[in-house]
Amino acid sequence: MKKTLSLLLVLILILVGCGNTTTSLKLDDRGYAIETNEKYISRQEEDAVIKNVILLIGDGMGANQVEVSRRVLLKEKEIFDLDKAEYKAEIITSCLNNDVTDSAAAATAFATGVKTNYEVVGKDKEGNDLKTILDYAQEAGMKTGIITDKGLDDATPAAFSVHLENRYLLQDSIPTQQIDSGIDIFMGGNVARYLDFAEAIQAKGYEFITTKEGLLNTKAKKIFAAYSSGRMMNQASDVPTLAEMTNKAIQVLSQNKRGFFLMVEAGQIDNRCGEGDIIKMAKAVQELDKALRVALNFARSNKETLVIVLADHETGGLVIGEGEPDITWFTEATRYHTAVNVPLYAYGTRSSFFADKILDNTEVFEILMMLLNLK
Ligand SMILES: [Zn+2]
Repeated sequence: MKKTLSLLLVLILILVGCGNTTTSLKLDDRGYAIETNEKYISRQEEDAVIKNVILLIGDGMGANQVEVSRRVLLKEKEIFDLDKAEYKAEIITSCLNNDVTDSAAAATAFATGVKTNYEVVGKDKEGNDLKTILDYAQEAGMKTGIITDKGLDDATPAAFSVHLENRYLLQDSIPTQQIDSGIDIFMGGNVARYLDFAEAIQAKGYEFITTKEGLLNTKAKKIFAAYSSGRMMNQASDVPTLAEMTNKAIQVLSQNKRGFFLMVEAGQIDNRCGEGDIIKMAKAVQELDKALRVALNFARSNKETLVIVLADHETGGLVIGEGEPDITWFTEATRYHTAVNVPLYAYGTRSSFFADKILDNTEVFEILMMLLNLK
């Protein structure tokens, strides 16, 4: 009898487990999702189909930001998943009217393939709205999503979802444009900007979520999740991490047979460089690396997935040199963006297409459109 009872209990536990669509992240002692299918070999043949693209953007993440983060955070012989890139490329970051870009013009180049002026979001130099890769993806029946650990109204998520002459003007139109964008998933910060739009968000079929618990447990297919009253999402217990948001988004979007396009921004690297805080900068890079692990675990189980990590520009002119201190900033006074080329890391199906290329930021759009067969 006791045996029957315990068997019944196990059965009930299994059934309850199956009813929950959320697979929570199983983490190792470094806080990374446990790596799956390490023996995975990516498909590089020309006829290999890509259905899903996960594009991770490290705001301000130059090659030295990654190198310094490894030195200050990891033990000897430990590496980042960034270091496991199958292929690498380099990106030229300039915008139309300046060698040193801002995040708005840079993200517009990735999202639309058009070089535009400083601080312009989703528009060309004449002020015309530009179609984004998410628009093309939706037309082809793909699902789409945008995630950031900064404000959802910040430059990078905005460039993939709205059109503004200037990122700092008419910001109240950002929620309205995002709600009408048809994009399936928004997850990010600055909830204060979105609270007045809760009804409008729900009217478009989104579940409007403001708690971590709410996000992890929802079964909704359209999600608008906003946290933290400021633009910087902190790591408080009721705020999901970039990796948790990425995991949830992939679970929802991957239910679509026609595939998905997901943009994930680690936005705080740029701010930490601006502040000159090496440790916090390194931790922001690691948050991106943890989200990358989640993306790679999906790519290793789904052979029609390409994962790209890149940066919009470098911030602060981070230098590794001789003497004390050996890590310093070239632009010590201002620590603003610089014009150096930034790295691109490619993983998964057809990642070899990027091998050792030096690409203009607009070419990233062209290549993704071509690989997804959208043009
Ligand atoms: Zn930026």
